[in-house]
Amino acid sequence: MEEIKKEGSINQVQLDAILEGRPDYLSSYRVNLTKDECEYGTSKVPEALIATSGISATELFDIAAERVPDEDERQVYAEYIDRYSLLNAYSSGQKSVSLNHNYHLCGKDMYLTTTINMYRNPLTGDVEGVVYLFDMSHHYLEKKIQSRLIGKQFESIAVIRVSTGKFYLLSQFLYIPESMSRASLDEVDYITHVKDVSSSYIVEEERDIFIYNSSMENLKEQLEKEESYYFTVKTVNEAGERRYKKFTYYYIDEKKDRIISSMEDVTGVIERDSLTGLYNRRGFVRAAGHIIEENKDSGIQYAVMFFNIKNFKAVNDYYGIDGGDMLLRGFTARVRESFLKPVVFARSEADHFVCLVDSENIDYDKLPLLLRGVFTCNNHSVEVQGLCGIYMVKDAGVGINRMCDRAKLAKEHITDIHVKPYAIYESCMREMYLEKALSVNSIDSAIDNKEFKVYYQPVIDIHTEKIVSAEALVRWIHPEYGFIPPDRFIPGLEETGLVSKLDMYVFSETSRFIKERSDNNQFIVPISTNLSWMDFYDTNMLDNLLVNLKQEGGPHGYVRFEVTETSYAGMAEKNHSVLKAFKDAGASILIDDFGSGYSSFSTITEYDFDILKLDMGFVRKIGKNSKIGSVIHAIIDMAHHMDMRVIAEGVETEEQISFLRRHGCDYVQGYYYSKPLPMEDFAKMLNEQQSA
Ligand code: C2E
Ligand code: MG
Ligand code: MG
Repeated sequence: MEEIKKEGSINQVQLDAILEGRPDYLSSYRVNLTKDECEYGTSKVPEALIATSGISATELFDIAAERVPDEDERQVYAEYIDRYSLLNAYSSGQKSVSLNHNYHLCGKDMYLTTTINMYRNPLTGDVEGVVYLFDMSHHYLEKKIQSRLIGKQFESIAVIRVSTGKFYLLSQFLYIPESMSRASLDEVDYITHVKDVSSSYIVEEERDIFIYNSSMENLKEQLEKEESYYFTVKTVNEAGERRYKKFTYYYIDEKKDRIISSMEDVTGVIERDSLTGLYNRRGFVRAAGHIIEENKDSGIQYAVMFFNIKNFKAVNDYYGIDGGDMLLRGFTARVRESFLKPVVFARSEADHFVCLVDSENIDYDKLPLLLRGVFTCNNHSVEVQGLCGIYMVKDAGVGINRMCDRAKLAKEHITDIHVKPYAIYESCMREMYLEKALSVNSIDSAIDNKEFKVYYQPVIDIHTEKIVSAEALVRWIHPEYGFIPPDRFIPGLEETGLVSKLDMYVFSETSRFIKERSDNNQFIVPISTNLSWMDFYDTNMLDNLLVNLKQEGGPHGYVRFEVTETSYAGMAEKNHSVLKAFKDAGASILIDDFGSGYSSFSTITEYDFDILKLDMGFVRKIGKNSKIGSVIHAIIDMAHHMDMRVIAEGVETEEQISFLRRHGCDYVQGYYYSKPLPMEDFAKMLNEQQSA
C-alpha cells in the first residue's frame, strides 16, 4: 500500500499490482472528487463491480450505499462517503478514510471495509481518490468466534439472519463436506435449508428432533437463556457411514440478529471415554463389531473379555474420586501393555472394561497375575483384584452386544477369585439368565404387546400422612416367565442400551396418566420416572424427553425424574446441561439412592437437585446401628441447607417413621404405607384421598 500514499495519479496496472497483495480485496474504483466523476472500476468478483461508465462519483457512492442492508448503518455510510465530506476531510489534512460496515453482495451478507485514499492530481490539481472494498467477513468472524474456534475442526460455519430468516454458509475459508455442498453458498431461506439438510443428511429417526432443535423459535428461546446452544445428531453420508455432528449456535452481534451456526464432527468424542482415553461402550460396539464382521472368514479366533475391579468401591471411598480415577487409568495401562494386546479396548461403565483380543494371546497362567495388583496412592497401598469373564467368538452372528453380555455373565460364575479370577462362558450359563427374553426383538415387541406395566408407589408427607407424590416403577409381566421385577432385567437392558426405549415408554405412560386425570378434574400428584445412566448417552432419547416435556398438554410441575450418581459421567459428557434443560422445561430432579454409591456427595455439589432420596440402606439400619441417627440427621440437615427436600425410601416400620420424623425428614416411601401399585389401584387411592 506504500505507493498510493504518494501524491499523484495511479493507473490500472499499478492498481492491480497493489491489490494482488490483498487476497480479501473485492473491488476498487478511481474517482475524481473535484469533478464528481467516476473514472473506472476493477473487481475480483464480478458481482461487486458497479458499471462505471458515465456515472458520477456521487452516483457510485449512492449505488454502494444501497447495498448496506441495515438502515441506520446505511445512513452512517452515506454520510461518511459523501463527496463533500471527503473533500473537507482532505482539505483538513486527512489522506485516507476507512469504514467497516455490512454489505449485501453475491447473495449474502458480508462484512466489508471501505477505504478511500485521496491525493491531489499534480497535473490537473483535482482531488482524486481510490475507493477500495475489502472483504473482512473472514477476519471479523474469526475475531468474533476466535475463542470458540480454538482447537476445533469445524466442517462448516454459517450465519443465520433472524430478521430476514435467511441463511448463508461462510464457505470461503472452510471445508464443506460433499453432502452439505448441496446447500447453496448464496443466501437461502433458513427453514428450507433446515428441511433440506434434514432430508438429505440426518438419519430418519432423528429428523423431527433436528427440525425442532434448529427451528428459529427454539434457537431464539435457547439463546435467551444461554450464551450458546448446541445439540448432536446422527447423520448419514452417501456411503451410508453414520457420524455424529454437533451443531452449535450463538449470536455474534449485539442486536441479536445474526446467529453463527457451526457444525463439527464429534463421532470420535462421542465414542471415547474421557477419563481413560479408551473407547466407551458405544465406540466398542461399533469398532469391535466391525472387526469381527470383517475378519469372520480369516481364521482368527477372537475373544471378548469383560473386566471389573472387585474392590473399586472401597478404593473410591478411601482415596476419593481422584484416587479412583488413578486406579482406572492404571488398570487401563496395565491391560493395554499386557500380553493380551487388545485389538479394541473400552471402558463401558464405571469400573467395567471390555476388550476384544485374539484368543491366542490369552495366557491363562499369567492372567491371574495381571488381574491382581497393588495400588498405591498418597503412600497408602491397597490390593486390587480384577475379575474377568471371557467369551470365545465362534459365530459373528451372535452380535457384539450379546458377546459382551455373555462375557459379563461368565464373570458371575467365578468360583474362587484367589485361584482363578476368571471364567470362560459356557452355554449352560445362559439358562439362568433371561437372555432370550432380553433379546433386541423381544423388548420391542414386549413394549408393543404391553407386557411392561407401570406401577406407582405413593410418597407420603411424614407429618400429614397424605400422598404428595409417587414413583413410577416398571414391571415386566412376561408371557412365559410371569412377573419379573426390574432388578432382573434393567441391568441387562442397560448393557445393550435398550433401557432408554423402556424409560421413554414409562415416561409416556406416566404422562398419560397425569394428563387423563387432570383432564377429568381428578386429584393428581407429581410422579417421578427413573432415568438410567444409559439414557444420558442417548442424545435422541434426551431430546425426545425434552420435546415431550415441552409439548405435553398435561398440567405443569407434575413431571419428576430420578437419577442416580451412576449417571454422573454421562451428564458430564453433556457438559452438565441436560438436567438444567429438564428443569427449565418445568421438571424436578431427584437424586435417587443417595448414600449407596461412592460419589454421592460430589454429585450433589455439581448439580442443583430438588429432592434427595435417602437410600434404603440407611433406613434399614435404624434401631440397629447407634451412629445412624447422626448420619441421617446430618444428611437431612445438609439437604435442607441446599434447598432440597428429603424422601426416605424403603420405610417399613412405625419405629423407622417416628425416628425419621424426629430427625426432620420430609417424606417417606415404603411398604409401611404402600407397595408399588398397579395404575388402577393407585388411582383408587388418589380418589379416596380426594373425596376425604
Ligand atoms: P429405586 O428407584 O430405588 O426404587 C425403589 C425400589 O424400592 C423399588 O424396587 C421399590 O419397589 C422398592 N421399595 C419401595 N419400598 C420398599 C420397602 O418398604 N421395602 C423394600 N424392601 N423395598 C421397597 P423395584 O420396583 O424393584 O425397583 C428396583 C430398581 O429398579 C429401582 O430402584 C430403579 O433403580 C429400577 N427401576 C424401576 N423401574 C425403572 C424404570 O422404569 N426405569 C429405570 N431405568 N429403572 C427402573
Ligand atoms: Mg427410583
Ligand atoms: Mg431408590
